Amino acid sequence: MAYELPALPYDYNALEPFIDTETMHLHHDKHHQTYITNVNAALANHPALAAKTVDDLISDLNAVPEDIRGVVRNNGGGHSNHSMFWTIMGPANSSGGHPTGEIAKQITADFGDFDAFKKSFNETTAKQFGSGWGWLVFTGGKLKIITSANQDSPLSQGLYPILGNDVWEHAYYLKYQNKRPDYLAAWWNVVNWAEVNKRFAKAKG
Ligand code: MN
Repeated sequence: MAYELPALPYDYNALEPFIDTETMHLHHDKHHQTYITNVNAALANHPALAAKTVDDLISDLNAVPEDIRGVVRNNGGGHSNHSMFWTIMGPANSSGGHPTGEIAKQITADFGDFDAFKKSFNETTAKQFGSGWGWLVFTGGKLKIITSANQDSPLSQGLYPILGNDVWEHAYYLKYQNKRPDYLAAWWNVVNWAEVNKRFAKAKG
């Protein structure tokens, strides 16, 4: 069964004014679709791999034959990362604000408070050179902020992404141009903390 583009769980304009409608159309319909098209093509002759969920696929890249491993890492990673990304955001009128639930407590325990956490996440992620992602993971009993290049997923390092922000220019350039820090600062207004809490529970196992 080939991978398919998941529908956005909200309207294309739902993240306005923080993420614009045109960016959402291009990002979801074109960029995400291209990763799916490419990973499906790479797996066309590998039905056992194609039967895995995309998260399982990129969690074990060693199981992928070497001749397609790079394509799967980039495009399977792209499919996994973007599938996560849409769900951890939500309509601007009902998302953002301060974290809730268990993730709020853990952020306070590990970073002091939400503002300190955001500052650390934004500064770390702003420095990711070129295209990549900023991530929040849970390892050794603590939250940790990491970045990855390209479409590399924490799953490939055995880490479950609690949240991640896409800092490829395609994610923000139409509205924010070269001002990645402005995009990073605005993005917190559309974070869906209920979904982040679900992912945190999974990360804790
Ligand atoms: Mn992207």
